[in-house]
Amino acid sequence: MQTDCLTKTNQGSNMNYQEKTKAELINDYEELKQKYDSLKSLFEKVVNDHKMNANFIDEGVNRFRKIIELAPIAMAIVSLDGTIEFINNKAIKVFGYLNEDIPNMDRWWTLAYPDENYRKDVVNDWMGRVQSALNENKEIIGNEFNVTCKDGSIKTMYISGVPVSNKIFVLFDDITERRQAEEALRESEEKFRILFDESPMPTLLSEIPSEKIAFINKRLASILGKPRVEIIGKTANELGLLPNPADQSKLTEMITRMGYIDNYEIEKTLPDGSLGSDLVFMRIVTISEKPFCLTIIQDKSEQKQAEEAQKQFSSLLQSTLESTADGILVVNLLGQVTSYNKKFGELWKIPQKLLDTRDDNKLLSFILNQLIDSESFLAKVKELYSNPAQNCYDTIEFKDGRVFERYSQPQLIDDNIVGRVWSFRDVTERKMAEMALIKAKEIAEENDRLKTSFLHNISHEIRTPMNAILGFSEILNSTDLLPEKRKYFTQLIIQSGNQLLAIISDIIDIATIEAEQVKINNDNVNLNSTLKTICEQFKIKDHKQNVVIKFKTCLSDGEAEVITDETKLIQILTNLIGNAQKFTEKGIIEYGYNIVSDETMHASSILFYVKDTGIGIPLEMREEIFKRFRQVESSSTRQYGGSGLGLSISKSYVEILGGKIWLDSEMDKGSTFYFTIPYTQAVS
Ligand code: ADP
Repeated sequence: MQTDCLTKTNQGSNMNYQEKTKAELINDYEELKQKYDSLKSLFEKVVNDHKMNANFIDEGVNRFRKIIELAPIAMAIVSLDGTIEFINNKAIKVFGYLNEDIPNMDRWWTLAYPDENYRKDVVNDWMGRVQSALNENKEIIGNEFNVTCKDGSIKTMYISGVPVSNKIFVLFDDITERRQAEEALRESEEKFRILFDESPMPTLLSEIPSEKIAFINKRLASILGKPRVEIIGKTANELGLLPNPADQSKLTEMITRMGYIDNYEIEKTLPDGSLGSDLVFMRIVTISEKPFCLTIIQDKSEQKQAEEAQKQFSSLLQSTLESTADGILVVNLLGQVTSYNKKFGELWKIPQKLLDTRDDNKLLSFILNQLIDSESFLAKVKELYSNPAQNCYDTIEFKDGRVFERYSQPQLIDDNIVGRVWSFRDVTERKMAEMALIKAKEIAEENDRLKTSFLHNISHEIRTPMNAILGFSEILNSTDLLPEKRKYFTQLIIQSGNQLLAIISDIIDIATIEAEQVKINNDNVNLNSTLKTICEQFKIKDHKQNVVIKFKTCLSDGEAEVITDETKLIQILTNLIGNAQKFTEKGIIEYGYNIVSDETMHASSILFYVKDTGIGIPLEMREEIFKRFRQVESSSTRQYGGSGLGLSISKSYVEILGGKIWLDSEMDKGSTFYFTIPYTQAVS
């Protein structure tokens, strides 16, 4: 009002300054001075009144300051013009700002709320609250603000205040820790909620004892096909989760009695109409001091399907294992047998009890002594175990003559080696066939060689006497010869003819034997006289100066009457004695017989022998020379000539007569040939 009055007066006098006279101006001045003086005294009065009030208030504030100085809560006194008059110790401690740092509200806003946008919001909010409080003459309703402290940390403060006279008492409550704890709790609750809600296992939480569902997870809600609001508050029974009421009472009884339930099976009908089942797991849990029942449901049908698929796969694997001809063993990296087939046990002759131990080491020590070279077998096993990625293929030979092929490779799962697969195949028959084939090839080659040598020998054996016959016949024919010479040449021709005949006979004999056309002509034979006749013939025929030929008998002439094929017996003896004579340069040739009895057969045999003091026969040839065309291939042998058929024919005849032939010999000392024939006495 006073200001208005002053303004108006000034305006009125300003309008007249230019037109007024000096007297009028002095008059105006006097008038104004009076008004000024009265206004001045009025102003001074007002100022004095005001001072009195201020002092009074200041005194109260000072007393109050002292109280709040020590208050445990952060406080500040702010005047209405925005000056921060005072902040207490607690506020300094909480924010780190001294009163000098924040002399006024503008400075406070800038420091405590550095983010401009947030600051705007805070200022608006706070000033609104202050204004309402002032208007309604009430305390300032507080709010939460995030205050940036001097050290840069941010604290959540609940800031409220009380307007007193022209000042505001501001209170700061530090709720940072409370908010942090609340946030942590919220986060952990969120985690557990997600865990529960997102679990793939249908899960529900029900109240005890009402059994009303308090919470179900997403999976169960989707199985039930209903929004959760329609499920919460209902019981499992009401929702048809337990079609059989007996299950409900059984579950209630069990959970009450035991406090938990595991693997309780509930039957259900699957969408395709077939029967399936669920497994129920239950636990009593306490949430906010209230008991709840936590139920987890597992679809056993899925598990069953997985088990079925697993079973199918296992049976396929097992039948594949069993249908193979190979013995298969699978061992893991710890040396434990993880799989094997029957064939494996059979091939290695491993008792079932030992297989049941599934211990690779035990199996190994059992099979080792069956092998010819167990050391290299073991070395290979060790090598493969220390190089798990290595493959191997080799052959194993058994003491009993069997031969196995061994193949081994690592067992892999996703490129990781988890064990080793061993596979064994019995290839004995194949190996034998291969060996027989090799042998047959060798024999064929040998036969070929023998044939060539035979042809060579035979042509020599035939040509020599033939040439003699032709040559001497020509001489006989063309010249006048003295009778002695003629006789000598005639003898040579006869001798050569006999030689030729002997060779031809041998060839015919061997052909007859090969054709199995040999006939036995048994008759009464007197052994003593047969041996005697042979001796005489040899003495006449092939008498050698330095060789004595003699024979021995062991039966009286009467007892020496036996039944046999005389022609063959003579041919055998003649062959043997002929050889003895051929390969003996000096000494004795003795032949004869003995009667021997075969105890096991309850029969007796005549054992003939032909003994010489000739060149002898090497050990390795003692069986060979009985084969066709075989001769001891040395130059000394060849010098004696012959077709290599005599012993072969003799052996065949001995066997046809029911006996055996063999020999003893010492090199350069001589040989003794033995043969037997059954001793069948002739009935006189
Ligand atoms: P050949 O005498 O016509 O060669 P054989 O079948 O009768 O044929 O004899 C085969 C081979 O056996 C002879 O070539 C000779 O090497 C050896 N042999 C046979 N008898 C004797 C013997 N008494 N002493 C030394 N070697 C012999």
